[in-house]
Amino acid sequence: MATFQTDLPDFTAPKKSTGMASIYIETYGCQMNVYDSQAINGLLKRKGYEIVDHDLEADVVLLNTCSIRDLAEHKIASRVGDLRHRRTQTNLPQPLIGICGCMAERMGTDLHKGKRKIDLVVGVDNYDTLPGLIEELLAKQHMTGRRTTADKKARTVVGHRTDAHYVAPPALYPINNSHLVTIHKGCDYKCTYCIVPLTRGPQSEKSPEAIIAEITNIVASGGQEVTLLGQNVTAYNWQQGMDFAALVEEVAGIEGLQRIRFLTGHPKDMHPHLMDTIGRLDKVCPWLHVPVQSGSDRVLRRMKRLYNCAEYLEMIDYARRVIPDVTFSTDFIVGFPGESESDFQDTLEMARKVKYDQAFSFKYSERPGVPAEKLADDVPDEEKKRRLAALIAVQDEVWHDLATESVGAVWSGVIEGRARHQEQESAEGAWRLRTANNRKVILTGGDYEIGQPLEAEITGFKNTTFMGTVRNSIGN
Ligand code: SAM
Ligand code: SF4
Repeated sequence: MATFQTDLPDFTAPKKSTGMASIYIETYGCQMNVYDSQAINGLLKRKGYEIVDHDLEADVVLLNTCSIRDLAEHKIASRVGDLRHRRTQTNLPQPLIGICGCMAERMGTDLHKGKRKIDLVVGVDNYDTLPGLIEELLAKQHMTGRRTTADKKARTVVGHRTDAHYVAPPALYPINNSHLVTIHKGCDYKCTYCIVPLTRGPQSEKSPEAIIAEITNIVASGGQEVTLLGQNVTAYNWQQGMDFAALVEEVAGIEGLQRIRFLTGHPKDMHPHLMDTIGRLDKVCPWLHVPVQSGSDRVLRRMKRLYNCAEYLEMIDYARRVIPDVTFSTDFIVGFPGESESDFQDTLEMARKVKYDQAFSFKYSERPGVPAEKLADDVPDEEKKRRLAALIAVQDEVWHDLATESVGAVWSGVIEGRARHQEQESAEGAWRLRTANNRKVILTGGDYEIGQPLEAEITGFKNTTFMGTVRNSIGN
């Protein structure tokens, strides 16, 4: 199995005949795409390309796309139109536009059809071909003065390769609090609504050695925290010999690493042994993102989720017993084919019972080629919208109660960075503290460093963020 290291710029690489091309990468979708974009960035920089921060400065624009819902794909179609239009308006030359990621994998050469004028299409397992492909297309453009007219198939590289595991170079992205580390790709579960097994292919693991080397490198570059990523990280199983619990033990042994988070855990794989391990290892953060999808056994069966509500609730109870201060977040889908009002009420009940810190809730979106395509998408869109709003309202109530109980508490966490614009309230220059169990606290006043450990007293909350004042600086 090949692991593509992208961390050391290869300064001996020949310069392109077209000069120094600049590339802008825009990322859509999940954290795995964020990681892949960092890996693409590394692969291109290694060949001498310049990565720029704005699409108008770029010779090549790469959109790293998501196919999970139809809306995600519609966004890309309009973004391509927008990119072309802005160049026309500003009298700048048109860039080469590339589609990477899940849409590339799902649609392949179909992306060249119609008015989109896409120049290259590269799927999730073929990013190592990007530098060569871009070089070839830019050289053709340089010679002819026109955007490429090359054979569409030659500009499309898709297809799953179990050998392709990319490594995002920590030296090329700024040190933030949590460095993403993809530990495996693809998915062998076949939830009936989900496009991921088609776009990302079968589950295939990065080797434990490669993962440990990557994290050791992150720590050597100043990183303190990692987030282990996969569609179902908890299904990690290296050559039937090392499961996720064993991998986490190994990672926790890396000297200098302070915290380990992971995303996404499948409820079916949350075995007592894994939860015991999480509870026992101080470095593993007590936050479980365990998507339940529905609170109705009937719907879970039709979704092929491989657990029922009682098993799910048992898992939550067990986690609460063995993982101190554990918090939970989840995903819900409303309006799955055949979901009745009573099924939906069961979903609301699930949200009330578990008391998630956060819930990401979606209207069911029919995807081409998935098993649920054969079921009638029979919940009308207006009804899906109503259910979505009702679920969000219940989750808001749950959150409001949890947050109210927390006022006055003293929590420890580390400074993650400056507060985002919408979190700043009226105070400029606020900071964001993140607790091990994934709560965000906005601190006003003071000057801190990223990664600094602090204790804060909770003074209030707004939406899903807490406000706090610093009590203490604590040792690392
Ligand atoms: N592997 C994770 C799991 O099994 O829970 C989920 C990964 S998926 C990329 C992220 C979320 O997208 C899912 O948990 C689900 O809620 C949502 N999702 C996936 N397919 C969907 C669809 N066809 N319509 C609406 N939401 C969908
Ligand atoms: Fe999709 Fe199910 Fe795999 Fe999650 S477990 S990625 S929802 S098929």
